[in-house]
Amino acid sequence: MNANNNEASAFLGEGRLTGCSSDEEPGAETMFFPQIKTPDQLVSNRNADFIRRNFPLATVDQWNDWRWQLRNSITTIEDLRKIIRLSEKEIMALNNLKGRLPLRVTPYFASLIYNTRSSNPLRRIVVPVVEELLQMPEEKTDPLHEQLSSPVKGIVHRYPDRVLFTVTQVCSAYCRYCTRSHSVGKLDKLGKNDFEKAFEYIRNHTEVRDVLISGGDPLTMSDEMLDYILRNIREISHVEIIRIGTRVPVVLPQRITNKLITILKKYHPLFISLHFSHPDEITQECGEACTKLADGGFPLGSQTVLLKGINDDVKVMKELFHKLLMIRVRPYYLYQCDLIPGSSNFRTSVKKGLEIIKGLRGFTSGYAIPQYVIDAPGGGGKIPLLPDYVVEHTGEKIVLRNYKGTICEYPEI
Ligand code: SF4
Repeated sequence: MNANNNEASAFLGEGRLTGCSSDEEPGAETMFFPQIKTPDQLVSNRNADFIRRNFPLATVDQWNDWRWQLRNSITTIEDLRKIIRLSEKEIMALNNLKGRLPLRVTPYFASLIYNTRSSNPLRRIVVPVVEELLQMPEEKTDPLHEQLSSPVKGIVHRYPDRVLFTVTQVCSAYCRYCTRSHSVGKLDKLGKNDFEKAFEYIRNHTEVRDVLISGGDPLTMSDEMLDYILRNIREISHVEIIRIGTRVPVVLPQRITNKLITILKKYHPLFISLHFSHPDEITQECGEACTKLADGGFPLGSQTVLLKGINDDVKVMKELFHKLLMIRVRPYYLYQCDLIPGSSNFRTSVKKGLEIIKGLRGFTSGYAIPQYVIDAPGGGGKIPLLPDYVVEHTGEKIVLRNYKGTICEYPEI
């Protein structure tokens, strides 16, 4: 991390002036900053202040270069200390991460947690606390048994007509509640032979009509690698749709370049599954990245994990889902947090999840309501959960309760 505060930043220029308000908002001490934007670049007011203070030698081109963001990611306690005042619980966790999910935060995402308190929701997503080191009896390393459903390296084949293809173990920022914390961030790369075997497996399984490319985060790979993977999958005639699972627009929006869009557009129908946790993640930069993807014709859906103290609240969830729709991302799944080691800090009751869905259904657009699911421990797959709307169901009728509590009947035949 480049933290020379003596040099003036190279990028600050003339621009529209807007202000910061909340004392939790990064950069709140300085009230006004220029906003810089070119067709493929955006530096918001918040980021301009952050760069000036923490990366004063960085140019606007560097800041907007996703490779620069990856190279300058915060991976050590020393660098993190320059961004935030660490709590005792965070220091203890960071000093004991050996062999566990590593620390990694892009400079861009660091700008969102800059100068925040330890309870800040975005900070809690990427900065470990000591509770993460505790493993409860019900928590398992691979709770979804993905390794048992893996016929060849990189492929998980659990459902009848689709496969998961984990093409990398690298992410640009690591989420402390990650279901694949047992494998992501490790140096276990797929080689050329592994890729060929995975393509061969999909080719030989004519029932596979849907391939989800995930990881890690596939969009941390080079354009050339992504092109190679997508081309090989698209050449398989029985594969109807391809999906990419990524958190890049949230933690590394600079990665969504015009060149990347041009490559991805060759492989339609291509769906993009995004991963959002909190409304504050939807910044101007993130919105621009999603707009580019939506304009590229990729249907965008969001998966959200229900997280204690971060988004386990109807108001927060409603704001998140409304903001997602505004950037053309459809809330898709709300997950009950998986039983991974150290997740007790994040897990809420199922009752809380049902309360949230009950607080949304009828009170806002159906488009703003994701399907609440538990990914069943032991590899049972996703099981949908709904509040109790059915009062009685007989051979003659179904008695239902609507969102206002009014009882309604519908004949069975
Ligand atoms: S981006 Fe996805 S795969 Fe990577 S750490 Fe977060 S949840 Fe895990």
